Amino acid sequence: MSLIVQKYGGTSVGTVERIESVADKVIGWRQKGHDIVVVVSAMSGETNRLVEMAKAIQEQPVPRELDVLLATGEQITIALLSMALEKRGCTARSYTGHQVHIRTDSVHNKARIVDIDDKRIRKDLDKGRVVVVAGFQGMDEEGNITTLGRGGSDTSAVALAAALKADECQIYTDVDGVYTTDPRVVPEARRLDHITYEEMLEMASLGAKVLQIRSVEFASKYGVRLRVLSSFEDTATGTLISAEETEMEQALISGIAFNRDEAKVTILGVPDQPGVAHKILGPIADNNIELDMIIQNVAEDSTTDFTFTVHRNDFDKSLAIMKETANKLGAREVTGDSKIVKVSIVGVGMRSHAGIASTMFETLAKEGVNIRMISTSEIKISVVVDEKYLELSVRALHEAFGLDQLA
Ligand code: ASP
Ligand code: MG
Repeated sequence: MSLIVQKYGGTSVGTVERIESVADKVIGWRQKGHDIVVVVSAMSGETNRLVEMAKAIQEQPVPRELDVLLATGEQITIALLSMALEKRGCTARSYTGHQVHIRTDSVHNKARIVDIDDKRIRKDLDKGRVVVVAGFQGMDEEGNITTLGRGGSDTSAVALAAALKADECQIYTDVDGVYTTDPRVVPEARRLDHITYEEMLEMASLGAKVLQIRSVEFASKYGVRLRVLSSFEDTATGTLISAEETEMEQALISGIAFNRDEAKVTILGVPDQPGVAHKILGPIADNNIELDMIIQNVAEDSTTDFTFTVHRNDFDKSLAIMKETANKLGAREVTGDSKIVKVSIVGVGMRSHAGIASTMFETLAKEGVNIRMISTSEIKISVVVDEKYLELSVRALHEAFGLDQLA
């Protein structure tokens, strides 16, 4: 017998009928002899509805009061699910975040969990009850209600699983797992049986649609076995996210991630002296603009060129800042391009295999795709290419690394 924490997202509890079918699912697991703690989100659309009401009154709602309001969404679903369980003869208890002492810091609207007191939940489990906990919410030291940021129920579930030392944390959602890439771009994309925490974090641009990325960081830190699976299918095993297992035969590449929100800025012909990097990138950081890739190359005339990428939303601002900086530093020119994308191959297998980068570049060359920038980390290689080549690049790489579904 094991202890399982299950989290059901908004679409899984989107209607009363869906809540009833979640109850059937939970009881199925109970009947196999497992102890179950359930974490639920608000019914789909509910959190947005609450945000809109708040904004109708105050464009920037008082953060503390917004949390009091948003926390009600999850309180509805815990009560309804517990009723559905009781109706089926399964004893259940629902609790809000503060009732089970999910302690957070005081950063309203994006609080972080600092501690969970698992005693109350254990007492209920010992009495044979299913415990149903509201996701997304907690309480700070002063007793104020806090919420964890959009999608935060995933993190609630992982944190509870860590505190209770659960055998597994299952995230039920409307997709049946994590895919090798976005199936809308590559119809041959496959569901992965297993992916490591590290890979999942690197695939954030794909994974973020499935899981709140912070929950993966949390799971990695506390070694929580995390499984993503569909609440709409019965037999599926989903995707297991866990630490690297050495005995397992690792695929070279686990997935192809991409990001359409990139833009790049280049400053050309900057006199090359100690401190230029700071002078160029400092004002960007001071404006709270996040940098992704950075490349510097030095020309023979002892000037240097600098290129960096930012989120597309920050493009205009970055370009304006760079023009100012260029004047100050006596640089030759500033150019920019907001029609670029980043495509990355991700896999822990890269650590122990040479030649992966060259396969990637060869594949793109064959398709006539011009690579504008390259960056690498231990388990990821990213390239920046023109927006129009996104689909072509992702498809070609997916095939080249043997990720296509076997026909
Ligand atoms: N209900 C919250 C949201 O919509 C939290 C969650 O669903 O995880 O963001
Ligand atoms: Mg979600």
